[in-house]
Amino acid sequence: MGKNSKIEWTTHTFNPWWGCTKVSEACKHCYAETWAKRLGQKVWGPKKERRTMSDNHWKQPLKWNRDAGSTTDRPRVFCASMADVFEDRSELVEPRARLFELIEATPNLDWLLLTKRPQNVKTMAKWGQDWPTNVWLGTTVELQTRADELLPYLAEIPAKVRFISAEPLLGPLDLRQWLGSTIDWVITGGESGPKARPASPKWFRDIHAQCMEQSVAFHFKQWGDWGPGDGENLPAHRMKIAKDGTAMFRLGKKSAGRILDGTTHDGLPENRFFG
Ligand code: SF4
Repeated sequence: MGKNSKIEWTTHTFNPWWGCTKVSEACKHCYAETWAKRLGQKVWGPKKERRTMSDNHWKQPLKWNRDAGSTTDRPRVFCASMADVFEDRSELVEPRARLFELIEATPNLDWLLLTKRPQNVKTMAKWGQDWPTNVWLGTTVELQTRADELLPYLAEIPAKVRFISAEPLLGPLDLRQWLGSTIDWVITGGESGPKARPASPKWFRDIHAQCMEQSVAFHFKQWGDWGPGDGENLPAHRMKIAKDGTAMFRLGKKSAGRILDGTTHDGLPENRFFG
């Protein structure tokens, strides 16, 4: 992980450690676990130790911060793509404290902390009611039940930017009570990988409409492996009916792309906060 991430909505990725334990439906086909396994890293599940990182690795963000100091850009750092910053394990207390110090030492970077465990943030983060302005805090909500359960925890944290990652989206979401007040940015996307579950275009369209109603930034990252289309020339096994009855087609992540209703959606909250 490092400079110039391939993820559209971030500039860099930084992992303070590798490894995690699955906690939700969104974790079912966790790409990070697959990637770690491919590299021979046995770091998933409650019984496996996490992979720690070298001092040189920890120095990378200091360089990004120095480089950013000579420009008008504010690079975004996605932390962590191979772990969950707020996983509750004793051996993570020290690296998490080190991460928080690093965040404070790099004011030219905006740190995006995306967690599936927002219930732990209040006790694990050191900042109480006074969060540094370079932290954006987000949580994953793939289903309405997860939104109802997790967003009250996110609402308690006074991060400058609070966001939702609705990826992989697994059902329709009604976010109206949270948009604008609690949530500044919504990232959405479908699932990729051999066991990907199709998401209905209607779900994305509806979230987009909710965001536009409340002037909340909306980002459509990808369809994933299943996209909309007419399915002409595709064998029957490459068609699946999404949960709402819409026919979806296994086009492959690259071909499915990231166009929703004729356009790309690359909304960012900074358009709203920083002019
Ligand atoms: S929380 Fe994230 S990193 Fe951890 S298992 Fe779930 S998807 Fe993977």
